[in-house]
Amino acid sequence: APEMEFKALSVETLPARLGSVDAVASLVGGPAENSPGSWKVREVGDGNLNLVFIVEGAKGAAVVKQALPYVRLVGDSWPLPLKRSFFEYHALIRQEKRDPGSVPAVHYFDEEQALIVMEFLSPHVILRRALIDGRELPNVARDLGLFTARTLFRGSDFSMEHRERKADLALFADNTELCDITENLVFTDPYFEAPMNRHTPGLDGMVRALRADRDLKVAAQTMKHIFASRAETLVHGDLHSGSVMVTDSQTRIIDPEFAFYGPIAFDVGMLLANFWMSYFSQRGHEADGSRASMRDYLLGVIEETWNVFRAEFANLWRTERTGMLHHRSLYEDQGDALASEQALNHVVHGIWADMLGFAGVEMHRRILGLAHNADFETIEDEALRARCETPALKFGRHIAVNRNHIQAMDELATLARLLD
Ligand code: ADP
Ligand code: MG
Ligand code: MG
Ligand code: MG
Repeated sequence: APEMEFKALSVETLPARLGSVDAVASLVGGPAENSPGSWKVREVGDGNLNLVFIVEGAKGAAVVKQALPYVRLVGDSWPLPLKRSFFEYHALIRQEKRDPGSVPAVHYFDEEQALIVMEFLSPHVILRRALIDGRELPNVARDLGLFTARTLFRGSDFSMEHRERKADLALFADNTELCDITENLVFTDPYFEAPMNRHTPGLDGMVRALRADRDLKVAAQTMKHIFASRAETLVHGDLHSGSVMVTDSQTRIIDPEFAFYGPIAFDVGMLLANFWMSYFSQRGHEADGSRASMRDYLLGVIEETWNVFRAEFANLWRTERTGMLHHRSLYEDQGDALASEQALNHVVHGIWADMLGFAGVEMHRRILGLAHNADFETIEDEALRARCETPALKFGRHIAVNRNHIQAMDELATLARLLD
């Protein structure tokens, strides 16, 4: 087909525009079996940035995700390049290779039209939604611990062939505008009265105190420095509970359009922050029954996610350290296995402290910044919402500022219970 300038899809135009693409037609049931006009198309995007369509036909279904040249949440006053779709596509391919089965299968990519055709995850629901509903999913901690360890280790110089890693570093370095969103919206705006910020009315005093908190501001800017400069591995970049889809037994990770080479701790910190926010939001969802068991479950998920991450990272360190940073000539090759274990502990300890810094900042930006999360937002009673958000803000402050002095997760479970 002749190349065509970018044009946003709609429910009406999608069948005609994608009906002739073999990869789609063979999946959904193409014109031969069933005219494209009879595809059933729904737009389901509930994210902040892109269009997401579910296409169903005689043979099956697929998801079509298309970027728009602006931020959907804000409108065309905030342009955002289409190339984020390119980074999402390339990240999905790499994640599938590094942790098979963890992401939706990709069937087709059109760079010009910034669209990805991928597996329709069904009956999966967004993890955040499941947690708001009080569902205790048995496998998410294990699956997400494995996903983070495998993708983050295998995208780094501990594992990758050095030439290939540097090429990937260059490829993803162009995801400038999405990094810029994180740099501003996550690390900076929450800590001053930026124009797009908002917060629940009852929090005014608390917000003033946090914005005057010198130690916190310095901690947040240290984390921003690490985020922007430490190109350790290909991170997902937006790994919150709205980027995970689940059934009772399956966990799939979606939406890596923010992918870039950044610090290993970033994805883990964002993920755990979202579990901690879910924890502190549970009192706001007790109308139809106690969430005491859900709170225990969430603290368990946080501990297990970290433990699985650490164990799998260690396992890969011992069995797959093939990259430029393998250090074998200094350690194992000289019979010094202890040196290798010592170096591993050093790396993991650094990830732990940075993870806490990123988590604390993520908790603040979801309560003080532009993009809030449904865990708190669906608590309609504003006084009750403020009562849930206050301990989350305090917890975030504690872990960001004290990240180098917190020794273990049980300390944080105790703190969470004390504050809640
Ligand atoms: P955005 O980048 O705009 O946040 P997402 O990739 O997060 O877009 O997708 C938005 C929503 O579309 C998700 O919350 C989910 O409900 C739905 N969705 C996205 N990808 C799939 C998929 N592969 N299968 C089923 N639903 C999906
Ligand atoms: Mg999303
Ligand atoms: Mg898996
Ligand atoms: Mg997205």
